[in-house]
Amino acid sequence: MAFINENYFKLKAGYLFPEIGRRVKDFSTANPGKKIIRMGIGDVTQPLVPSVIKAFHEGVEEMASAQSFKGYGPEQGYAFLREAIAENDYKSRGVDISADDIFVSDGSKCDTGNIQEIFGFNNRIAIGDPVYPVYADTTVMSGKTGLCAENGYFEGIIYMPCTAQNNFVPELPKEKADLIFLCFPNNPTGAVATKEQLKKWVDYAIANKSIILYDAAYEAYITDDSIPHSIYEIEGAKKVAIEFRSFSKTAGFTGTRCAFTVVPSELLAYDGEGKAHAVKPLWMRRQTTKFNGVSYPVQKAAAAIYTPEGKKETKAVIEYYLENASIMKKKLSEAGFSVFGGVNAPYVWVQTKNNMKSWDFFDKLLKEAGVVGTPGSGFGPSGEGYFRFSAFADRANVIEAMDKVQKLFK
Ligand SMILES: *Cc1c(COP(=O)(O)O)cnc(C)c1O
Repeated sequence: MAFINENYFKLKAGYLFPEIGRRVKDFSTANPGKKIIRMGIGDVTQPLVPSVIKAFHEGVEEMASAQSFKGYGPEQGYAFLREAIAENDYKSRGVDISADDIFVSDGSKCDTGNIQEIFGFNNRIAIGDPVYPVYADTTVMSGKTGLCAENGYFEGIIYMPCTAQNNFVPELPKEKADLIFLCFPNNPTGAVATKEQLKKWVDYAIANKSIILYDAAYEAYITDDSIPHSIYEIEGAKKVAIEFRSFSKTAGFTGTRCAFTVVPSELLAYDGEGKAHAVKPLWMRRQTTKFNGVSYPVQKAAAAIYTPEGKKETKAVIEYYLENASIMKKKLSEAGFSVFGGVNAPYVWVQTKNNMKSWDFFDKLLKEAGVVGTPGSGFGPSGEGYFRFSAFADRANVIEAMDKVQKLFK
C-alpha cells in the first residue's frame, strides 16, 4: 500500500490564487464582455528590458555551436553571475559577501520552501502574519505542525502578528524561535524594516542561536536611502541569516526563472549535543543532489541586469511600477481608505471599510467595479479586514481601476 503524506490534508482549501481565479472565472462567465482589471496576483506585466533580451539571445546562440555549447553548469551557478551579484548587490552597499556563498537557483519560492530540509525537525518556526503563504504552507507540508485551529493558526508555528499598531513590523516572539522567516519589503503589506528594527532581530538570533530566513524579493523597490536592502547590512548577520533574492520582481523574471540564495560560510546551526556546524555545506549538498542549475542563457540574461544599460533599464521599469503604486495610494486615500505600503514596495495595503471581511470586499470590487485584488485574509488571519492591490499593472488600467473604486466608495 502507498501511504499519502497526510500533512497536505491539513492545508486550507487551496492556495489563495486558484480561489481568486475561480471567482473571477465564474464572474466573467456570468457577465461576458464585462471588463475586468486584474490587480490581484503578484505577477509583473512589463517585458524583459532590451539588454536582458540581447544577452538572452546571445546565450541561446552560444548553445547552437559546438565551440560555445554549454552542458551542466557549475553547481552554484556561473561565476560571472555570482561575481556580478556580489559586486553590485552587496559590495556596492558596503557588504562583503563572497561570490562563493551565493547559490543561483530557479526561484525564491522553491528556495524558501526547500530551505527547511537542511534544518532539524525539532526547530520552532516563527512566521509573520500576514505574509507570503509559502513559509507556513511548506512548514505544514513538512509535518512540523499540528492541525489548523479555529483562528487560522497551525499548531506548532509561532505566529507574529503584523498590524497597523506595530506598523506591520513584527515584535520579537515571547516563545523561543529557532528559525524566523522575515520578508522585507513585505508581501502583502508593503512594510519595510529600519536598520534599528532589523538589528533587534539579528541580536535576538545571536542571543538564541537562531537563524533568520530573510526574503528580500522586493529590495529593488526600496527608495528610502535609510532602509537596508540586505539583512547583511546589520552587523553580525552573516553568522545568523540566510538571504533570498529573486530577479522575478527586480527584472521581470517571473516567467524566465532566476533567483539566488546567500548562505554565508560563517552561518552556524547546532546538533543534538549543542555542537556547532556550518550550514553552507548542507545547502550545497541539498542543491547538488536535487537541483541541476539554471539554464545558461537565463543566467546570462540575469547577468545583463548588472551592466550599466541593464541597471538603467530595469530601474526605469521599477520606477514605472512605483509610480503606479503612488497613484493607487493617492486615489485610495482620497476615497477614504486607510492605506499602507506602496512607497518602498509594489503593493498597496488597504483597510476595508466598515469592518468588511476581505473576501466580501473582493466580491464587491469584482462585481460592482470589475476590479480584482487580493483578500488580505489569504495571507494570514491578521490580514482579515485588509486588501492588497498590486502595482504590477498597466498605467491606464491602474487609473481606470482606481477611478472605479473611488466611484464605488464615494
Ligand atoms: C514573488 C515573491 C518571491 C519570488 O519568487 P520566485 O520563485 O523567485 O519567482 C519570493 N518571495 C516573495 C515574498 C514574493 O512575493
